[in-house]
Amino acid sequence: MAVATERARRPDSFTQAAKESVAAKDVCPFCPGHESMTPPEVLAYRAPGLPANAEGWSIRVVPNLYAAFRPEPDGQEHREGRFWQRDAIGACEVLISSPDHRAPTPKLPRRQVEQIVQSYFDRYQHHARNGALEHVLILYNHGRPAGASLEHPHSQLYAIGVQPPSLNDELEGARRFREEQGACVFCRTLDDEGRAGARIVFENAAFVVFAPYAARTPFETWIMPRRHSASFGDLDLSREKPAFAEALQLTLKALQDGLNDPPFNYFIHSAPFKADARDAYHWHLELIPKLSTAAGFELGTGIWIKSTRQWSRRREGGGDGGG
Ligand SMILES: [Zn+2]
Ligand SMILES: [Zn+2]
Ligand SMILES: [Zn+2]
Repeated sequence: MAVATERARRPDSFTQAAKESVAAKDVCPFCPGHESMTPPEVLAYRAPGLPANAEGWSIRVVPNLYAAFRPEPDGQEHREGRFWQRDAIGACEVLISSPDHRAPTPKLPRRQVEQIVQSYFDRYQHHARNGALEHVLILYNHGRPAGASLEHPHSQLYAIGVQPPSLNDELEGARRFREEQGACVFCRTLDDEGRAGARIVFENAAFVVFAPYAARTPFETWIMPRRHSASFGDLDLSREKPAFAEALQLTLKALQDGLNDPPFNYFIHSAPFKADARDAYHWHLELIPKLSTAAGFELGTGIWIKSTRQWSRRREGGGDGGG
């Protein structure tokens, strides 16, 4: 009952939402000039000579104030009656995409998207050196239904001391395939998809963007490097970084333009640091749109609207032509 009352009071009209949005920009902790509203930065790209934690940055990474994970395993235990809990070991960071409050990835200059990828890489490498950690998960939430709580475009990084169960399942499946078939299941998928072609959304010299055969949701999309490599930390910065930035930006643009800017989540799956997964695993990005209306209709009726369900196939010549 109390919950229902609270919800009824929530401002839902468009005008109210617009006012909120303007107010949010004025007090946005991720906007330039508001650096003191966040914890001190752990990484920023800005011209040499400019002071830290002040304006002039193009990318800024700060610890997440509401972190569920903490860098120090200092045994912060909470006891309440018979409930006991200890803060998980790890780090939680916010990677601010650009100084522009209103520019999601499709609207940024390509150079800026490359810097986003560079910031993923730099923070990944930083945490990979910490022997207490097992895994780094980098993710992006777009739109409130997808869990984005702040409007200013940003990614999140979780560096954790356990192997996440969903990744474990994928890794185990890949290991089984490797044992039985003597090959990487992801490389095999790229070969099969490349031959079939139907589910390929976009490809360039170093990456393939495709709708996975066993998609969990309509328009689920994966971005995978052509080169076999288990860890995102092995990204080739001169060749693969620009190609990954291009694949990511064009995929997000196709989603925004083609499906009227739906909420979505994407995350990078990379082998856990200590898992022996060099041969079996193959890092990739999974993008999952939240198409509540269409998905509800489709799930409820079992009728799939063909014209809106298919990605149009795009090939763009990068580097060596890409096909
Ligand atoms: Zn902002
Ligand atoms: Zn592979
Ligand atoms: Zn995966």
